[in-house]
Amino acid sequence: MTSFPSSTVLGYPRIGPDRELKRALESYWDGRATRAELERVGAELREQTWRRLAELGLEGLPSNTFSLYDQVLDTAVMVGAVPERYRDAEDPYFAMARGTQGLPPLRMTKWFDTNYHYIVPEIGPGTVFKLDAAKPLGEVRQARALGFETRPVVIGPVTFLLLSNALDRLDDVLGCYEELLSALAAEGVAWAQFDEPALVGDRTPAELAAVRSAYDRLGSTAARPSLLVASYFGDLGEALPVLAATPVEAIGVDLVRGQAPALPGKTVVAGVVSGRDVWRTSQARALAALRAVQADDVVVSTSCSLQHVPYTVAVEDELEPGLRERLAFAEEKVAEVVTLARLFAEGAAPGLEETVTRARRDGVAPARRSPYPVRARAQAGHLDLPLLPVTTIGSFPQTSELRAARADRSLPVADYEALVEKEIERAIRVQERLGLDVLVHGEPERNDMVQYFAEHLDGFAVTRHGWVQSYGSRCTRPPLLHGDVSRPAPITVRWATYASSLTAKPVKGMLTGPVTIVAWSFVRDDLPLREVTFQVADAIAEEVRDLEAAGISIIQVDEPALRELLPLRAGAQEDYLEWAVAAYRRATSVAADRTQIHTHLCYSDADQILAAIDGLDADVTTIESARSGARILKNVGGYSRGLGPGVYDIHSPRVPAEAEVEALLKEALGVLPADRLWVNPDCGLKTRTYEQVEASLANLVSAARSLRGSV
Ligand code: GLN
Ligand code: ZN
Repeated sequence: MTSFPSSTVLGYPRIGPDRELKRALESYWDGRATRAELERVGAELREQTWRRLAELGLEGLPSNTFSLYDQVLDTAVMVGAVPERYRDAEDPYFAMARGTQGLPPLRMTKWFDTNYHYIVPEIGPGTVFKLDAAKPLGEVRQARALGFETRPVVIGPVTFLLLSNALDRLDDVLGCYEELLSALAAEGVAWAQFDEPALVGDRTPAELAAVRSAYDRLGSTAARPSLLVASYFGDLGEALPVLAATPVEAIGVDLVRGQAPALPGKTVVAGVVSGRDVWRTSQARALAALRAVQADDVVVSTSCSLQHVPYTVAVEDELEPGLRERLAFAEEKVAEVVTLARLFAEGAAPGLEETVTRARRDGVAPARRSPYPVRARAQAGHLDLPLLPVTTIGSFPQTSELRAARADRSLPVADYEALVEKEIERAIRVQERLGLDVLVHGEPERNDMVQYFAEHLDGFAVTRHGWVQSYGSRCTRPPLLHGDVSRPAPITVRWATYASSLTAKPVKGMLTGPVTIVAWSFVRDDLPLREVTFQVADAIAEEVRDLEAAGISIIQVDEPALRELLPLRAGAQEDYLEWAVAAYRRATSVAADRTQIHTHLCYSDADQILAAIDGLDADVTTIESARSGARILKNVGGYSRGLGPGVYDIHSPRVPAEAEVEALLKEALGVLPADRLWVNPDCGLKTRTYEQVEASLANLVSAARSLRGSV
């Protein structure tokens, strides 16, 4: 076997340093570019990546880490798992990814505990697997033509089938993987990488047995490249000895989150540079971790693909120099891998561990709220709401004028603020005219529910080009939470009070919760996440207190990301939920009993965290359910506080009919007392048009009104 190169990365960003792929995709989807033009952009991005990695001195270059949309979808295509109904579409790949007229796309869901979303393959007993190796072979050949030998990366069979909920098809899919290995060997490929991140989760004995038989079988493929099975996002735990007993030559381990393994006879690809954060690596810690590995050969690598971090810090010229020095995005992380490989080979002694100053903040917000029944009475006296109150989740449509004004850095602040006020007034007038009971200001001042708060809190910085792929062509620019968090001045109070001054109806204050702010940022790594989240919670608590003092009597604190941070292993979940709930309560428990606290969660399949949702102790919880009504209602029957199961699916331009809304509400009334039920859409309205929103909300109001008389 050819020995493994001394340094590598498990994967690389692919959206393009300037989001070239995003633009190319959108041009193709809009019919402004051909498929061939799109492919050309892809080929250029791959070439750029290999050249850059080689320039930086990386020895082991990966290939097939590029994707036009998603690597799981690519794997499905590779094994021929294209459902029948997509085969005749003009472009079956994008039909599966995005749907076409009359053909909904495949489901999409979160990639382990990251913010990346993958397409869920559809595999049934009737799926016929058949290898199509065009993509991996094509990338190997393209790289070779440029003078680079690469290691093709594909998702391994066990993870692929677990994500598809079809592990029972393992024997059949393995035929494709064997054939792939033979094809790669025929191509002269020395190493291939099979990604198996599912192995860091809790796996049943039967699943572990499947791992063993899969890699025993693949390992005995007659002619094949050497095989690296890469795990990431945690420790292999009980899967480690299982893999160790198979003939695979190399095992990739995440040494940022996991333990250094003892794997005599194997090559260990040691992930010591984190692919999940944006901070420089401690050389001392990385070298110590590398030394602790017992194996025939140790290769320096990243803890996972670098697709979860932006391209480079070099273009961030507006960041404060002190902060810039502490940052490492993909390019800088590659340079770290190369340096560490050199130091490790030279046997350099780990230097002194840098001392980290751990800031501590005191001042735990006292939990001063009374139990719910007491609060409910205080609120009823104060708010005077009808039965089945109608409200919305917060945002109203964002006009292109508003977006353009926000992007225009030369626009005077006063002009921008005048425009925001105009939008608030428009949203308030619409809600008054339609007869909603609890109004919102519409969030026109916000680009994004997390970034907006990051821009107004100390301890955060925002990048200009730090884009990370969320799914397909969609990218987010997570803020950097780099220091102690505090709130120098009130953030939302002026908009909430302005909105409130325009109407006699109650206007809800609208805040993002601490867990969501932390989940959607790159968070400093010198303090436990829990402590950082508590700091954010304290800043939000100050905002709650100021909104209340300004006369706002209903305050919503959104936590759509509560489930996202849930640890992959069950053993760690309880601790997380305990502090996540504590952080939320720290942010909201400063409110007086008569102030009504709302929360919003963007999902309803929340079985794992139902107890935690209850633990948030919000007076009113709004959830997604327009698409899964009956199921969620079964879960929440007996819910003891206010609940607003979304009765308008805002993800679609469709206007729900009054009768349809009424039917959903009647169903809800079957399990919830009438005085607990709220009427609302299932998420914010910012992606809809005013026309759709007005028609839909009118139907919500009339459905609520016609039911009020009969309950
Ligand atoms: N208040 C936010 C909005 O309406 C909530 C968004 C969300 O749930 N993701 O836009
Ligand atoms: Zn939502």
